[in-house]
Amino acid sequence: MASPFPQQFTSTVSHWQATNRGPSALWDHGRDAPLPSNVDFLIVGGGITGASLAYQLTRPGGAGVGKHIAVVEAKDLASGATGRNGGHIGPCSWLSFPSLTASLQDGGAGIDAEAALDVIFNEADTLALAAEIVRSENLDVDFWKGHKMEVFTTETGAAKNVAAREAFEKARRASKYANRELEWTLVTDPVEAQRISRTEGALAVNIGTAGSNHPHRLATALMKLAMEARSSKTELYSHTPVLKLSETQGGWAVETTRGSIRAENVVLCTNAWTRHLFPEDMERKTGIAAHVTPFRGHAALVVPPASYSGEDSIQNTFAVENGPYLMATPHSGLVFGVYNSTALAVGLAGWDEIFGVEDDSVVLDSFKDWLVDYCPKGFVEWGDELPGEGVNQMWTGIMAASADQIPLIGAVPGKAGLWAAVAFHGHGMARILTVTQSLAANIKTGEWDSRLPRVFEITEQRLERGRSAAAIPRFQQS
Ligand SMILES: Cc1cc2nc3c(=O)[nH]c(=O)nc-3n(C[C@H](O)[C@H](O)[C@H](O)COP(=O)(O)OP(=O)(O)OC[C@H]3O[C@@H](n4cnc5c(N)ncnc54)[C@H](O)[C@@H]3O)c2cc1C
Repeated sequence: MASPFPQQFTSTVSHWQATNRGPSALWDHGRDAPLPSNVDFLIVGGGITGASLAYQLTRPGGAGVGKHIAVVEAKDLASGATGRNGGHIGPCSWLSFPSLTASLQDGGAGIDAEAALDVIFNEADTLALAAEIVRSENLDVDFWKGHKMEVFTTETGAAKNVAAREAFEKARRASKYANRELEWTLVTDPVEAQRISRTEGALAVNIGTAGSNHPHRLATALMKLAMEARSSKTELYSHTPVLKLSETQGGWAVETTRGSIRAENVVLCTNAWTRHLFPEDMERKTGIAAHVTPFRGHAALVVPPASYSGEDSIQNTFAVENGPYLMATPHSGLVFGVYNSTALAVGLAGWDEIFGVEDDSVVLDSFKDWLVDYCPKGFVEWGDELPGEGVNQMWTGIMAASADQIPLIGAVPGKAGLWAAVAFHGHGMARILTVTQSLAANIKTGEWDSRLPRVFEITEQRLERGRSAAAIPRFQQS
């Protein structure tokens, strides 16, 4: 398959892209600037992964200090999944435990209980790191920390949740996490569940710690901090797609639409589009190209009526069984994302309209119709919507499913100087900041950073094992 860039279609515009247009944003940045011929680090992809890696590399003592770093982005900064997501930094609850420990053939991650606990607690660590970076760097990115509600609307879902909690707790008590509790509680009384969640038909609710942010502004802020770091030379080149990577003596020759760059280290932060940089693997259906499958997600901005505004506004994030996930922006309304499991379950789309899709120019009418109906029917006493209220804007974005549900991080096996941080399985906001912090440490020391789950590491064995995974991986709740 030829390079997907420059794209042959016009992408939808998200709420986040639409609300970061001021002079401090980085639209078209470096688009016409001459490319450097040589750099120490070339980061391919300017999403939250590329931007936060550039930030981490350029912190005091980082591997990028005294070095020349270029970030090349095929379109604009945060034009991929980062600028199109649900804005939710939602660490998983115990609900992920069964799917992380289920076998690959059953659509699970096929990892053991201890590794699954590492993955779950890493997401809580990521939220804590997000809060810390926002605080210490004084970032204006609408960061919010509060509670997430996971709402169950079927007896089966509620029962599975109880079983997941028991299995998680049993494993936790027998592990190195015996003294670290997950900050989640469970409400099983349906009357109380409906009252606190304001969700029609709620039977049970998990309540835990979560956050939200303006992801386009966060990526922009981190990129700018990297570019401002005086100890390194860091540049962003927008509209500079990489077409080809070739291994050379002591580095990589990177061919872009605007010329070639030689780099000692190349880091792929290309999430859904990674497979195109491994054309032979793509052809043979092996390696990273086989492990990572692009898939399309839908999201929307919903302006609530007065019944859900002001003192009555939604003041937590949500993940609803057979429903959407959502967060409240400070001023603009609610941002909804639709799980692909929901989309498939309620018949909004077929497999071919979700998986293997790289086109974010389309909003399917089925999603639009379903979301228009969702709030009035799904939320208790939502009431009538005035003109201008309800679904205001819809967009799509492309994520990267991982064959074993978990990201691929670190050195690419057999390719000296090539690194990757990809395949966030639709859940990157709860993973990427710790991933890039640890990847930057790994690049510096050559050693895996023990703060990050070891199962994230890219190994030949893992890529080979991933080929036996079920075609439809299960999805964690965002
Ligand atoms: C609709 C939707 C809702 C979501 N909701 C949530 C949520 O609420 N919470 C959550 O945790 N996650 C959510 N996600 C997932 C989350 O957005 C991603 O996991 C995360 O943004 C991945 O970041 P990234 O930087 O790795 O990838 P991206 O943001 O996709 O960035 C990759 C970048 O690489 C560039 N690129 C690719 N190939 C090349 C090339 N050859 N040359 C140059 N540049 C290249 C792309 O243009 C792109 O900008 C959602 C995603 C979508 C689409």
